[in-house]
Amino acid sequence: MERTMRTPIIAGNWKLNKTVSEAIALTTALKASVVDVNGVEIIVAPPFTALAAVSDVITDSNIRLSAQDVYSEDSGAFTGEVSAPMLKDVGCDYVIIGHSERRQYFGETNESVNQKVKAALAHGLKPIICVGELLEEREAGRTEAVIEDHVTGGIASLAAAELLSCVIAYEPVWAIGTGKTATPDQAQEVHNFIRGLLAKLSSAEVASQIRIQYGGSVKPENASELMAQPDVDGALVGGASLEAESFAQIVKFDS
Ligand code: PEP
Repeated sequence: MERTMRTPIIAGNWKLNKTVSEAIALTTALKASVVDVNGVEIIVAPPFTALAAVSDVITDSNIRLSAQDVYSEDSGAFTGEVSAPMLKDVGCDYVIIGHSERRQYFGETNESVNQKVKAALAHGLKPIICVGELLEEREAGRTEAVIEDHVTGGIASLAAAELLSCVIAYEPVWAIGTGKTATPDQAQEVHNFIRGLLAKLSSAEVASQIRIQYGGSVKPENASELMAQPDVDGALVGGASLEAESFAQIVKFDS
C-alpha cells in the first residue's frame, strides 16, 4: 500500500509540562494555527490534569486528544493510576503506551505495555505503542533485535482488527530530547523493518495499513524530509510540541 493511503499522524507529547491554564493557552493558539489543515491527523497529549480542559478547547476542531499513559485495570485499589474508561470519558481517542521514559524510569516492560494496549483497545482507545533502541544497543548492532522484542511483546496476541487500531512510534532513545535526529535513511530503515515484522506477525495487508510514526528531536526544519520517507507515516513530537508555532509547522510539513 502506498504511503498516501495512510493518513499522516502528527502527535505532540507534552510530557511533564503545562499547567491547566498553560495547556488551554497552547491548545487555543494551536487550534487557530491548524484550522485549515486537512488530511493530517493532529493529536495532543497533555498531562492527565489538563486533559479535561484541553478536551473542551478542541471540541469540534481537527485536533484529537491523547493521554500519555494508562493503567491496565479499569478500576479498583490502584492508587495514583488512571484507567482507559476514565480517559475515554474525558475525551481521549488515543493513548501513548510504552514511551522510553516510562520504560527507563517507571519499570514499564513489554508485558505491562501489552496489558495496557489490550485495556486501551477494550475501551475504544487507540494505542500509540512506542519502541526504540538505546545508543549502546544501536552501536552493538542490536537495533533490529530490540525493535523486534518491543514490537512482538507490545502487540502479543492482538487480533488483526485490533492491530489496525494501533499506531507504532519508532523512537530511538538516543534521539529523544537530545537534539540528535535519526537521519531520514536511518528512520526509513527501521520503519521498513517494523512493517516487514508486522507482515510476518500478522499479514501483509494489515502491515500495509498500520501507521508508523518517527519520534526523536523532530523539528520544523527536519519534519518534511523525515515525512518524505515511504514508511514514515507521522511524527511523535516532544519538545517542539510545547509551542504552538513550531508544532503547527510540523503539522504543515508538506506545505
Ligand atoms: C518524545 O517525547 O516522544 C520525543 C520524541 O521527544 P523530543 O521530540 O523532544 O525528542
